[in-house]
Amino acid sequence: MGKPRTIVEKVWDSHVVCERPGAPPLIYIDLHLVHEVTSPQAFEGLRERGLKVRRPDLSFATTDHSTPTTDRSLPIADKIAAAQVAKLEANCKEFGIPCYGYHSEHQGIVHVIGPENGLTQPGMTVVCGDSHTATHGAFGALAFGIGTSQVEHVLATQCLLQAKSKTYQVNINGSLKPGVTAKDVILALIARIGIGGGTHTVFEYCGSTIRALSMEERMTICNMSIEGGARAGLIAPDDTTFQYMHGRRFMPKGAAWDAALDRWKQLPSDEGAVYDRSISIDTAALEPMVTFGTNPGMGIPITQPVPDPGSLADPLERDSLAKALHYMNIEPGKPLLGHKVNVVFIGSCTNARITDLRAAAALFKGRKVSPNVRVMVVPGSQDTKRQAEAEGLDKIFREAGALWREAGCSMCIAMNGDQLAPGEYSVSTSNRNFEGRQGKGGRTFLASPLTAAAAAVTGVVTDVRTLL
Ligand code: SF4
Repeated sequence: MGKPRTIVEKVWDSHVVCERPGAPPLIYIDLHLVHEVTSPQAFEGLRERGLKVRRPDLSFATTDHSTPTTDRSLPIADKIAAAQVAKLEANCKEFGIPCYGYHSEHQGIVHVIGPENGLTQPGMTVVCGDSHTATHGAFGALAFGIGTSQVEHVLATQCLLQAKSKTYQVNINGSLKPGVTAKDVILALIARIGIGGGTHTVFEYCGSTIRALSMEERMTICNMSIEGGARAGLIAPDDTTFQYMHGRRFMPKGAAWDAALDRWKQLPSDEGAVYDRSISIDTAALEPMVTFGTNPGMGIPITQPVPDPGSLADPLERDSLAKALHYMNIEPGKPLLGHKVNVVFIGSCTNARITDLRAAAALFKGRKVSPNVRVMVVPGSQDTKRQAEAEGLDKIFREAGALWREAGCSMCIAMNGDQLAPGEYSVSTSNRNFEGRQGKGGRTFLASPLTAAAAAVTGVVTDVRTLL
C-alpha cells in the first residue's frame, strides 16, 4: 500500500512525461481547448517552423472571446473580430482540429462547450489559452490557463513544461440559505484569502456544501480559483459528476464508459492524504456577496459596509483600497445596497449555464426590468441557448425587458461590442472586476445571477432575499 495521495497528486503523477534537474517537469496534456484570441500566433509559429499539430484529435476549438452576441445571420461588423474568427476557422481546417465555429450549432464559450459536450473528463489534464480554464476542474480534471507561446508548445508536442503546484484543501461545509449561491461561496472564499491567497497551489474543494452542488455550480466555484491566486482548482468526481457526464456527445459509450467509470472512481483523495495547506469555510451564515472594488478579493456580504481605507494598518493595502474606491467612485463606510446600476450582465463562463439562466428567469418572471437599466442575458453556448428557449426562459427575459443574445464571452471581456460606457456601473455575473475589464472607465460589481437579476428589476444594488 503506497502513501495516501490527493487527487491532484494522482492526476499529476499519471501525466509526468519526464523530470530533469533545473527544468520544470514535462507533463502530457489530454485536452487542449483553443479559441480565436490566443491561438493565431501559435498557429503562425507552427507554420514558420514547418510543424504539424501533434494530436489534433486531442485539440478542440470554438469562437467566443471576440465573437459578437448579435444576430448570427449578419456578418461580423468589427474587422479585427471578423478576421480573428475567420483565422481560427481557417487554422483549424488547415491543421485538422475540430472547431465549433461562428455558425456552428454548438458554438459557445470554451469553458462551457467542453463540459457540455463531454470533452472534459475526470483525471484529465486540460489546458487553454484562457485564465479560467480551471472551470474544468469541477470534473476532477487538472486544468489551467496557458500563454500564447505555451499554446504553440502544446499544439506541437501535446506536452507542457509545468512546475508542480502545492496542494490546498478548501473545506466548505454547511447548507446554503435561500438567495445564496455557489457564486457567493467563491466570492466569500476569495474575500477571505485575498487574490494571492492560493499562489503556487491547486485548490481541492471538499465538504458538504460542495457535495450538494450541481455540476454547473461546481463549475462556477472552480472557474474563479485563479482569482484566489491558485493555479487551478478541482473537485473529486462523484455520482453527481457521473450523472451529468453520462451520454454526452464525446463521452465514452458502452463498455468504454464502464471502464472509464472504474478508473474515475479511483481518483478521489485517499484517506489520510496530506495537503500542504488547508482552510475551512462555514456557509451556514453566508449572505449574498458583492464586490465593491477592482479585484475579485474586494468583496463583502451585501448588507455590510464598504471597508474604509483608514481602518487598514498596512500602507500598501490602504493605498490599494483607496485607489480602488476612487476608481469606483464609492464612499467607504456604507453598504452598496441602493447604489445605482446602469447595466446588468448575466453571462460568462462563470454563470451562463442553464441553471444560472433558470435562477435569473425565476426572479424576472412577472417583473419588469428597471427603465434605467440595460440588461443583457448571454447564454454560454448555443446548446444552452436552445435548451433555455425550449424551457421558455428567453420569453421571460424578453417580456421583462432584457436583451436575449447569441452565445459568447460578451461583456466579460468587452472585445466583441458588448461593453460599458465610461463611468457606467454594472452588476455582472462574470469573474473579473479589474479597471476597464468591461469597457474603458466601466465599473463592475461582481455578483451571482440572482443578485444580478434583483439589480435588474430594481435598478440598484439589491439584497435578492428581499425579493424572494
Ligand atoms: S467568459 Fe471571460 S473568462 Fe470566460 S472564457 Fe470568455 S473571456 Fe475568458
